[in-house]
Amino acid sequence: MLRSLKKLFTDDCPECNQSLEYSSNHLYYTKSCPNGHFSEETYPHLGVSIIYKN
Ligand SMILES: [Zn+2]
Repeated sequence: MLRSLKKLFTDDCPECNQSLEYSSNHLYYTKSCPNGHFSEETYPHLGVSIIYKN
């Protein structure tokens, strides 16, 4: 259980397997590939995630 929880928070880029970088502000947080392949914006108050892939 702990392993699968940890997996949720240690996502890797599906393209290059780099660890995704996190940032956040008061509206949403983002996870993004340092090489620009992938990014995900999550809006916790809306229960919405938006995923961008190149
Ligand atoms: Zn990548």
